[in-house]
Amino acid sequence: MRYQRSSQLFQEATKVIPGGVNSPVRAFKGVGGTPVFMARAKGAYLFDEDGNQYIDYINSWGPQLLGHAFQPVVTAIQEQAERGTSFGTPTALETEIAQLAISMVPHIDQIRFVNSGTEACMSAIRLARGYTKRDKIIKFAGCYHGHSDSFLIAAGSGLSTFGVPNSPGVTQGTAKDTLLAAYNNLDEVAAIMAANANEIAAIIIEPVAGNMGCVPPLPGFLEGLRSLCDQHGSLLIFDEVMTGFRLAKGGVQELYGVQADLVCFGKVIGGGLPVGAFAGPTNIMEYLSPVGPVYQAGTLSGNPIAMSAGLVMLQSINNDQELFSRLHEKTAYLEKGISTVFKQKNIAFTCNRVGSMISFHFDEKPVTDFHTAKNGDNEQFRQFFHGMLDHGIYIAPSAYETWFITDALSYEDLDATIAAAAQVVASW
Ligand SMILES: *Cc1c(COP(=O)(O)O)cnc(C)c1O
Repeated sequence: MRYQRSSQLFQEATKVIPGGVNSPVRAFKGVGGTPVFMARAKGAYLFDEDGNQYIDYINSWGPQLLGHAFQPVVTAIQEQAERGTSFGTPTALETEIAQLAISMVPHIDQIRFVNSGTEACMSAIRLARGYTKRDKIIKFAGCYHGHSDSFLIAAGSGLSTFGVPNSPGVTQGTAKDTLLAAYNNLDEVAAIMAANANEIAAIIIEPVAGNMGCVPPLPGFLEGLRSLCDQHGSLLIFDEVMTGFRLAKGGVQELYGVQADLVCFGKVIGGGLPVGAFAGPTNIMEYLSPVGPVYQAGTLSGNPIAMSAGLVMLQSINNDQELFSRLHEKTAYLEKGISTVFKQKNIAFTCNRVGSMISFHFDEKPVTDFHTAKNGDNEQFRQFFHGMLDHGIYIAPSAYETWFITDALSYEDLDATIAAAAQVVASW
């Protein structure tokens, strides 16, 4: 049995860990079956507990932009561990990675490090509320900003734009301060802002969305949000936890030339260790404690091992002038190959792609927001996922996730992936 040991491990895990996982999307709930337990990883490959090898298109959900167990990162972690794993004092490393991040990303003067993307977004919102002295925020359906209460919000019923909790445990009191709009719908945002004049602290957005598949902003959308924020005295927050240091050195601000007031980071910035960060101009960032009144803290924030991994990761990205064009070309090659396979079988699909983010949707209509992302044929996706897994190709176990292309992928890996896709759909 191909997944025998994984199945046994999963059974054991479910007794002591809710659902057997420490983050729900790992549980294969969207596709059925039991999750594969990985034993190790190197470069573009994962190796599971049964000894199967996979070409990896999840890459820890983004962080492993340069491949698994990237040697400079491994060495940095080892060397830092010898010097001590945590001090609870400032370190020179923190200033060094801060300086580098600020030099790579446009329009930021200061950065605060935290331990996850969730913390980064949660703290950025608190800072925006403290800075503007306003309570409400606008988010977009289908965008994910981590699991803090203000973001676990679904659209209210009928014409109301007021949010309602989409998880038990989130209070109505919290939910009422999060207003929801459809991605790429500027008119809707303008209407919400007009109806809540002087009440919106911030608009938070994945400026290229990656948590409903990959959904790029339509031309003018980000620019429109920028001018609405300026008009209404609200802050524009780019959640670049997925896109930061992935789509360009300076993320979406650089790629699309639109300026945000605050930017959130995670994933790549930690090189595979638990790191998040949020950043902005000095006048806003100095509203944070200990300079300003907005409280935010963390025992392990700026942890030396995590910072040493992140620093080497950012240095490697910063020093490689061809990295982003290589990633772009590999991703375009994959799109062409898999699209050809689907077309030959007359499979209805849409492919969205920006840089090294790509998603295939089993529906021929354009996918521009959460509503259109939901039109995809989930049964077809389920079959495709399991077929690819059985052929040693590891894609996300959900139709609402981006594939992450890493620099470790060779063209042989991409060809093998395209060939696997052809075999999977051969009988369709
Ligand atoms: C992954 C992600 C988060 C949450 O980050 P965690 O480290 O999982 O808490 C927030 N925003 C976006 C856009 C993400 O992709």
